[in-house]
Parts: sequence; structure tokens; C-alpha cells
Amino acid sequence: MLGVAIAACGRPVAQVVHPPAPNLTTAIVGASLWDGTGRASVANAVTLVQGDRILCAGGTGECPIPRGARVIDANGRYLIPGLIDSHVHLLFLSNGSAGEELALDLRDLLAQGVTTVRDMGGNPAELLPRVHTMTAAPRVYAMQLVAGRRFFFNGLRGVATARGTIYRQPPALTMQRMGWAPMLYTPGTDPDSLVTEARNAGATGLKLYAQLDSTSVHRLVAAARRAGMSVWGHAWVQPASVLEQSVGGQDGVVHAAGLAGELYNAEDRERLVNDGDLQAATALVGTVGSAHDPRVLAALDSMAHRGTFFEPTLDATRHSVDHYNAQSRRRPSVQEEYVRAASSFGMEVTREAVARGVRISAGSDHVAYGLGRDRATLFGELQLLVDSIALSPTAALLAATRDAAAAIGGENGARIGTIETGRYADLVLLSKNPLENIANLEAVEWVMLGGRVWRPGQLRSGIALR
Ligand SMILES: [Zn+2]
Repeated sequence: MLGVAIAACGRPVAQVVHPPAPNLTTAIVGASLWDGTGRASVANAVTLVQGDRILCAGGTGECPIPRGARVIDANGRYLIPGLIDSHVHLLFLSNGSAGEELALDLRDLLAQGVTTVRDMGGNPAELLPRVHTMTAAPRVYAMQLVAGRRFFFNGLRGVATARGTIYRQPPALTMQRMGWAPMLYTPGTDPDSLVTEARNAGATGLKLYAQLDSTSVHRLVAAARRAGMSVWGHAWVQPASVLEQSVGGQDGVVHAAGLAGELYNAEDRERLVNDGDLQAATALVGTVGSAHDPRVLAALDSMAHRGTFFEPTLDATRHSVDHYNAQSRRRPSVQEEYVRAASSFGMEVTREAVARGVRISAGSDHVAYGLGRDRATLFGELQLLVDSIALSPTAALLAATRDAAAAIGGENGARIGTIETGRYADLVLLSKNPLENIANLEAVEWVMLGGRVWRPGQLRSGIALR
């Protein structure tokens, strides 16, 4: 294409402007390649990218560099798949707006090497159109929240406090005020219609949230399967336990601390409606010792046997513990007791899960709003998986690449997570080896998303983003 630029002296100067060539091949040469498939790193690798896809990736001689290819020298550096955070919450509406925070947060995630996120159930119909207008953002897949009747209609409930009785609103209303949109499922609901509605909202799966029994779990899973969608759930969904969720065919459960539900019977689980009830119940039974209770272990064994994924979300709990540790004046509260129990119990449950062969997906429960220091990150989650759960850096990285892609599932999951021919060219080049030390994930030189290279400084400063 010919363009005309005006020189400083005012004389028009013909200038050749090259449009991006979709078929131009880029060759990333000389890196140590860890492709996320489970095979060992390949030294001095060649990775060919054409358009938005990987054309070839391998050792010397495996991928001949085509003539005219653009060559990126990656000698002495480390190439890994773009990271996947399979548990985030991006949308938080304040007066109907997500403001600038969402765009800034997504750029920052990309700068950290996170090229895909899965939103675990805010409001796909609101979120996805906002994301699609952004120039620099990871791929976003979104789940639809589903909950039972009592979540919506448990009515105002009086709670006695020192200042008199206060009335709690239905939990669904609190969520809706943040801009989230849980869907109601009752025994009279046609599960196929609910799944269609979720799909029309842009969701790739359902996230079961609360007040659903095991029959509801079975029906929703069957309907989602018919539509090719995944089903995940909060651990637990009251009254359905994690064991029932796993037996019901769910693809995954989230939050290690939620295994505390296994320590209650179905009637008790159903009685817990408000956040305070759930927190108090977890605080009462969640200890290092109870993580080894046969009922918890039975749920984990079922998950391992059926391939049910597990997202422990350890970093989110760690942030909550830090919050209470930083307080200068201590006032006893149910929330603090809950957070401390959730931390020790959840950590021990995760150790048991790993020992028993449960598949782990690295979801952080990152939120895109509020104070930056309070936000869980994938980086933090991976560090905890290595430092506290004793996963090797390789195993932790698999939980954020190949296995997180499988957790997302379907056609979307089949295009991401590994560096293989035909997958999206979502790559991270690091100056230090993350397999030696997981903290080296911070040494990002550049991130490639669908064939386009971004540098962290460029993303964080906002340069050339329009
Ligand atoms: Zn969450």
C-alpha cells in the first residue's frame, strides 16, 4: 500500500506502508523450548508461526525455516506456552460500568504471560462485548452461574446483632447488585432451555454455585453434555456434596476449602444459606486433621477416578490471611476464623488431592477490581503449588498450560495450552528458566498472542495500544 506522509519541511514524501502479511512466517530461533505437552525441553529450537497459528515447533532440522521468514533471535532464552488462568472474575459493575479497571487489568494479565483466562461466572453477556472492543487482552472464555431457588428467594432473614436485628437479603440479589447474573434452576426448569440461554449469553459452560441437589447436578450435566458445554461447580453446592458433584459427572470443582462440606450431612448442608452460615460451618470443622477424614478422601478418590478437575485457589485464601495478619487491631470475627480454617484445611486437602492423583488446573480466583495488592494471581497460585504443595515447577506449569486447556475443554481448549502445530501462537519468551525456579515466570521478555508480539512495558504503559 502506498501512503503519503508530510515531511517536517512540508514537502510530501512518498512512503511505503507495509500492511501486516497474514501468511508471513515468523521463526523463533535458538530458544530452549518447553512445549507443555509433557515432553522434555528441546534445546536450540525452531518455532514457526504463521498468521495466528503455530506451524511447527521442534529441534534442529525438525522445522526448516522458509525463505523470507522473519527471524526472532531467542538464543539463551526459554519459550513456553502462553499461560492460562482458569479461574478469574473480570466483571464488577459499579453504577453499570466496569470503568477503566477492566482494560488495565487485562493488559496487566497479558504482560504477565497470561494469554487465556476463564471467567468463572460473572455475567458473560455483559463481559464478552466489553472485552471484544479491547486491543490488548487475553482470550476470555466465560461460564454462566447457576443456583437453586433458596439462593434467590430465601427472603429477608433476621439476624440478631448488638445494635438490633438486621435483615439479610437473598444472596442472588447481592450478586446482581455487582452486575453478576446467576440463573435460577428449580426442579421445574427445563435444563436444556437453561443451557441454551447460557450459550446465547456467550457462556462456554455452567458454573453451579449454590442450593442445588444431586438430581439437579445430574440433569444440568446431562443437558450441558448434549450442548457440548462443560459444567463446573463451587465445592460444595449445598446440598450436593463434592462427592455427589463428581459422581454426577461435573468436569471440575473449585476451592479446596469447600471440601469441608463433606464433613456435614445433606440436611445440614442444605440449611446453610447465607455466606455467614457457610463461613461459620467451615471454621468449625476445617482443620489440618479433618483434611484426612475418610469422607474428604472419598470425594478426592472419586475425583481422581473420574478425572474431575480441581482448582484449589490457594492464592486467594493466602491474600485473605495476609489481610487479617496485617490488621493492627484484632477484632474476632467469623470471617477471620473462616479464612484461617480455609487456609490450613485447604492446603492440606490440596496435598491429599495431589497425592491421590486428582487433576489440578491452576485457577487463581483473580478479580479485576479493587486494590491490586488484594488480588490473587496465577503467578502466586503457581508459587504456592510449588512451595507449599511440593509440585515440581514442571507439574505446576502443566497445571497452567496443557491441563488448564483441558479444563476449559471443547474446541476452545483444543486450540490453546501447548506449542504444537495448529494451535494458537500464544507464547511467552522468558530470560530465565521457569523449570529451575517457578519465580522465573516473572522474567517475561515478550508475550505472543495469536502471532502478535507484546512487550510487558508496552502493555503496562499503554504505548501503541490503539
Ligand atoms: Zn471464584
